[in-house]
Amino acid sequence: MSLRIRGPKVKRGENFDLAIVGGGPAGLSAAIYASRFLLKTIVLTVDVGGQLNLTNWVDDYPGLGHIKASELVDRFKKHAESFGVNIVWGVEVKSVDRVEESVFKVSGTGDVEVYAKTVILAVGARRRKLGVPGEERLVGRGVSYCSVCDAPLFRGKKAVAVVGGGDSALEGAGLLSSYVGKVYLIHRRGEFRAKPVLVADVKGRGNVEFLLNSVVTEIMGDDSVKAVRVVNKVTGEEIVLDVEGVFIEIGFEPATEFFKSIGLETDDYGYVKVDEWMRTSIPGIFAAGDAISKWRGFRQIVTAAATGAVAAYSAYQYLIEKGLYRSFSRT
Ligand code: NAP
Repeated sequence: MSLRIRGPKVKRGENFDLAIVGGGPAGLSAAIYASRFLLKTIVLTVDVGGQLNLTNWVDDYPGLGHIKASELVDRFKKHAESFGVNIVWGVEVKSVDRVEESVFKVSGTGDVEVYAKTVILAVGARRRKLGVPGEERLVGRGVSYCSVCDAPLFRGKKAVAVVGGGDSALEGAGLLSSYVGKVYLIHRRGEFRAKPVLVADVKGRGNVEFLLNSVVTEIMGDDSVKAVRVVNKVTGEEIVLDVEGVFIEIGFEPATEFFKSIGLETDDYGYVKVDEWMRTSIPGIFAAGDAISKWRGFRQIVTAAATGAVAAYSAYQYLIEKGLYRSFSRT
């Protein structure tokens, strides 16, 4: 991945009270709270907004009603920056190493290297792949992992398939139904994980066909997607659907190898183990948002923001307890 560093210049070797890795709702909420505790804080992140960039509208963030996800990202960012937080994006953090008793070295792409007394990992999770023939070969040629980002590119197409049964799949199917003639929603079970309000909305649309208890076993096409092979798990029946796009919306996976490379304990699913104060197994490192072991299956913007706030408070408390806190440390 080639990334261009954006935001304020970060001096190589600069010292911080807190380095936050990740710029989604968890990381930016942590930054807002850290600045209230007068911690000299830097946010290092690939992008600003995280998974919010994969959503169109947000309807459930308290106090904001119906708001564009991009507008909410902008508000988070401006809010943190108004408190003096450095947000540097275009940086993929590769390692976090303890170099002294109370100092971590945080290194990333673009030759970024900073030192921090505490670290909050708010790195979110990455998109899960189906792992079927044709998927990898046809990525960007009809295979997409983000309906919200790519739906307009399919305007006027005859038919597309959406795979998954969670909020992302239902939201994606609803959105795509306004752009294309027909949407097949393919889900491996008979019940949806998605919020009932989203399911009801999609059911009300005339051009979405539900294929339940069904799995995609192959994505076909030479230069671009032409069809998908679908097997009904109950009847064993196999069908081939002519589609020009396949939207794989089957959830996210944690960055387990990254956590393990730092030496952090993870749960059975690979998420960072935290206690109720977002403390990880390594003193001085905290975690928040979709990376953590708590509330798996109910990842919301508000829960990410909440854990980010708690993690910032814990970092502050840790600095006080260790005698490392200087209320004047932010310059
Ligand atoms: P998710 O909630 O984890 O749902 C993933 C879906 O994909 C599940 O239905 C799952 O099936 C299915 N699935 C998983 N692995 C599969 C595989 N290998 N083959 C076929 N199907 C597979 O993920 P998500 O929908 O991306 O949502 C992630 C989080 O973001 C959730 O907390 C969600 O609430 C939130 N979100 C909210 C909104 C909103 O409120 N507007 C929009 C988007 C996302 P099973 O059900 O059988 O496990």
